[in-house]
Amino acid sequence: MPDAQVEVKTGLGRTGAVPGVYTSALGYESQRIRAAAVYCSDGRIGEHFDDFLHNGLHLPRYDRVALPGGPGCLAGHIEARLEEEGVIDELKFLVDAHELERVVLIQHQGCAFYQRRLGVEPERMEMLQRADLVRAAFHIRRVSAHLQIDGYLASLSGDGLVFEVVPLE
Ligand SMILES: [Zn+2]
Repeated sequence: MPDAQVEVKTGLGRTGAVPGVYTSALGYESQRIRAAAVYCSDGRIGEHFDDFLHNGLHLPRYDRVALPGGPGCLAGHIEARLEEEGVIDELKFLVDAHELERVVLIQHQGCAFYQRRLGVEPERMEMLQRADLVRAAFHIRRVSAHLQIDGYLASLSGDGLVFEVVPLE
């Protein structure tokens, strides 16, 4: 694919213009912070999630568990049974291998997973998403009872997103 080749070359951050090789200019920090975030993979808001987690919660280098619907896949919906099994398995792995101690769950307004996979009416969506955060936390506690779990709902506001804490008890 010639186009991809051009993209790779122009993306070179540093020296050594080797075709097909991209060198990231970002530094690498090996220390883990033992936190993960579960959120929707919607590419339009991925950078907002990063901004919130990095600057709002001060969690650099968190582990990303991104899939359509995010925490909606951990709430016991039969339509997401396979995803739920997979994500629970991933979290078990992260608890063991990355010594995970904290999980941040983020729902977002107008999530297509709720509209299309679960067939939820727009006016019911937010209520269900809030309830699903509580259900997801319940299921995650079965992975490890010691995890700190926090829930948030991201809503559109002007040109950006606001993140509101949702109590999980
Ligand atoms: Zn979504």
